[in-house]
Amino acid sequence: MTGTLVLVATPIGNLGDLSPRAVAELSGAALICCEDTRRTGKLLIHAGIRGVRMKRLDDHTERAGIAVVLDKLAAGQRVALVSDAGTPAISDPGERLVAAVVEAGYTVTTVPGPSAVVAALVASGLPTSRFVYEGFLARKGGDRMAALAQISQQSATSVMYESPNRLAATLRDLAAVCGGDRQAVVARELTKLHEEFVRGSLDELATWADGGVKGEIVLVIAGATPPAEADDETIVAAIQALMEAGMSRRDAIAKIASDLGVRRGRVYDLALTISGGVTPPS
Ligand code: SAM
Repeated sequence: MTGTLVLVATPIGNLGDLSPRAVAELSGAALICCEDTRRTGKLLIHAGIRGVRMKRLDDHTERAGIAVVLDKLAAGQRVALVSDAGTPAISDPGERLVAAVVEAGYTVTTVPGPSAVVAALVASGLPTSRFVYEGFLARKGGDRMAALAQISQQSATSVMYESPNRLAATLRDLAAVCGGDRQAVVARELTKLHEEFVRGSLDELATWADGGVKGEIVLVIAGATPPAEADDETIVAAIQALMEAGMSRRDAIAKIASDLGVRRGRVYDLALTISGGVTPPS
């Protein structure tokens, strides 16, 4: 038998989301690595699974846990990895373990299932064809500013996790860099009794969050819309203005193409419509 590590997704709030295949993998594992043995123990009891050994593997113990897992895999055994909730290795321990197991040449597979990032995205109503997962935003400093700046420019939908206590501040920071009218969705308590999607502009959501928010939160932010290309009248007016200010047509064409982000050939063609002729672009 080939040693195999299985990443098993577990519910993010609704125990009904534990799949039959997840139960089968957890029942058959030689070892279940988990963040919190008490929490995973409760899940196992719910699923009627008894007698499977558990090992704590969190951010502090992941390095030491890797050696234990590799020993099991060397013996041809199957090891399961779960996190407290959702999919392991998504803002949860697992990334280093998976890399080490891949590096050592053992098999890695997964029982996919709940993950708050995907659940929030697909129900948000915002574009899903391209998205960027930001994890948790840095709380302060240059890393936070850099992440905010990147989100403001990002054309794909951004998805991030946030604590309820910091949500209002993060929405305000996002509104400052993205513009307060950028659309976003707060997905709260997904799959639970009080699941809620609050949709609106960043300004509206910041005002809503100022009232105090509880529960687990995913924030989904619409991508930046590219600025509309300048229309013909604007380009012609810009050529004329620059020429009246003494610039040669050739230089005016180059400057407008660069300043307005328009193809040089298009500016040249429009310049031809102005009486007096033009020098072809080089
Ligand atoms: N690995 C998990 C996953 O796949 O979703 C994420 C773990 S991360 C440590 C925990 C964060 O995920 C929470 O702070 C919250 O932002 C988000 N989250 C988890 N469950 C959620 C739920 N039911 N509703 C909304 N957000 C949730």
